[in-house]
Amino acid sequence: MIPDNLEWVKNRIKKAAEKSGRSPESIRLVAVSKTVSVEKIIEAREAGAELFGENRVQEALEKIDRLGQSGPEWHFIGHLQKNKVKQIVGRFSLIHSVDNAALAQVINEKSLTGNLITPVLLQVNVSGEASKFGMASQELESTLNALSTMSAIKVEGLMTIPPYAPDPEKSRGVFARLRELRDKMAQLDMEGIGLQELSMGMSNDFTVAIEEGATLVRVGSAIFGDRSTD
Ligand SMILES: *Cc1c(COP(=O)(O)O)cnc(C)c1O
Repeated sequence: MIPDNLEWVKNRIKKAAEKSGRSPESIRLVAVSKTVSVEKIIEAREAGAELFGENRVQEALEKIDRLGQSGPEWHFIGHLQKNKVKQIVGRFSLIHSVDNAALAQVINEKSLTGNLITPVLLQVNVSGEASKFGMASQELESTLNALSTMSAIKVEGLMTIPPYAPDPEKSRGVFARLRELRDKMAQLDMEGIGLQELSMGMSNDFTVAIEEGATLVRVGSAIFGDRSTD
């Protein structure tokens, strides 16, 4: 079932890319494996998933340890607290969910200590409602300014989670606004700030997100089935 689901998701990514005149290779699939067993992650990997996303520090680190050195690539996509940063720096190739400069400061310090550069995305609460995490759009410019002085942090783009809506078309405006925000910030050409990545779109709405410019789609239940606990 996982291989079929994965194939279905990849096909839809390809179709959505083609529909919007984009290359399918410009979109990376993050298989969101939160609450999913290591056995299923291995199954997905054997079926061709290369990149996995987790949202809880402890659970993620256990899986990363179990899959070991030759394991897949991991992204951290969940809400992150400052006191957990030490544990995750160096363990993920991208953190999607940096939502304030104070958190970034801690990531920068721990990265400097570990002699590492940590790639991050800034999470923006575009709609300004419902969604619990992410900075307000109006805070983005000053946050980017602050991060541009942090030498061990590499900003690569933006991430958003729209308010839950069963109809994916309802999220299109949020995705479009994140892209517009990115374009506006990119024009400022801030030192050390890259904004090439747009992490947006989940099982329910990833094709719409791709049409609006997503480069990373975070898809869980469409690959692994419904989560009993979340
Ligand atoms: C759980 C989760 C996803 C995946 O959600 P699905 O609806 O299962 O695809 C994507 N992004 C984040 C931040 C999540 O926590």
